[in-house]
Amino acid sequence: MAGAEVGDDVLGDDPTVQRLEATIAERLGLEAALFVPSGTMANLLAIAVSTRRGDEVLLHIDAHPFQHEAGGAGMFAGVQLHPLGHGGPFLDPTEVLSAVRPPNDHYAPATLLCVEDTVNKGGGAVYPLDRLRDLHRAAHGAGLATHLDGARLFHAVVASATPADVRVRGFDSVATCFSKGLGAPVGSALVSDRERIALARRYRKALGGGMRQSGVLAAAALYALDPHGDRLAEDHARARALGDGLATMGFDVEPVATNMVYVGVDDGPAWQQALSEHGVACFAHGPRRLRLVVHLDVDDAGIRRAIEAFGRIG
Ligand SMILES: *Cc1c(COP(=O)(O)O)cnc(C)c1O
Repeated sequence: MAGAEVGDDVLGDDPTVQRLEATIAERLGLEAALFVPSGTMANLLAIAVSTRRGDEVLLHIDAHPFQHEAGGAGMFAGVQLHPLGHGGPFLDPTEVLSAVRPPNDHYAPATLLCVEDTVNKGGGAVYPLDRLRDLHRAAHGAGLATHLDGARLFHAVVASATPADVRVRGFDSVATCFSKGLGAPVGSALVSDRERIALARRYRKALGGGMRQSGVLAAAALYALDPHGDRLAEDHARARALGDGLATMGFDVEPVATNMVYVGVDDGPAWQQALSEHGVACFAHGPRRLRLVVHLDVDDAGIRRAIEAFGRIG
């Protein structure tokens, strides 16, 4: 980061940002990319460039733009979100198609489907490849554009042993985070065709997301994108070890697919508080559900300490 060659990305001439955008676009097999401050902005731009104000966006009820993006899709893109999938982590193409209503003055026209992979609130589950394909085919057949929220795309890539460009093939845009599991301090990308990215660049500027000498941040993102051996696979193995350890102690552990462990408890917020007093940071994702995430700052000793903390509290 300290040695990054920088320019002014608001003028489009920061060489490190350019290199990051070209790298992630190539990795995903798409034409162009835009470096943005957050995954939230990447999703908002994706929605804004594939819809018109007053349109409807179909997505899972647990999807990030519906649950955790402060209402930005309505606030800034002027769309209505239509949540689907009240059972299970994955969207169902039949449910998507039945949610697309015929053209009629009474309805907001559905023009975009958003799919999230891995599924954060779905236990970090990885979409089966054929389900992704069935979803974008169904959506495109009904005249909708498609966006993949791949905040944790590279976890899905590692867990499924399928290259990123294969997993995202067929989607019109992809958001992916260099932060979180990949370990960069800041940054995400929106990846798509040249036309959508050109429009997204203007919207990013309007939202205050143009960042001048952002090559400093892009350098960290480029470093995070390097595979670093089996880093993510190690996280997944540690998450499984944590899940297995807690299950052995009698805790109600959901299947562990990637780097997340969801545990059923009697009182989520009370457990979050008690664990934090034992030096274990996690989130209560609901009144009776805890989410523990394994990442590059969690080693084997940390997993053991977390299991011990559960033992002491429980
Ligand atoms: C974290 C997350 C985002 C948004 O990322 P931020 O950088 O925190 O804004 C988007 N989608 C999913 C599924 C996420 O988990």
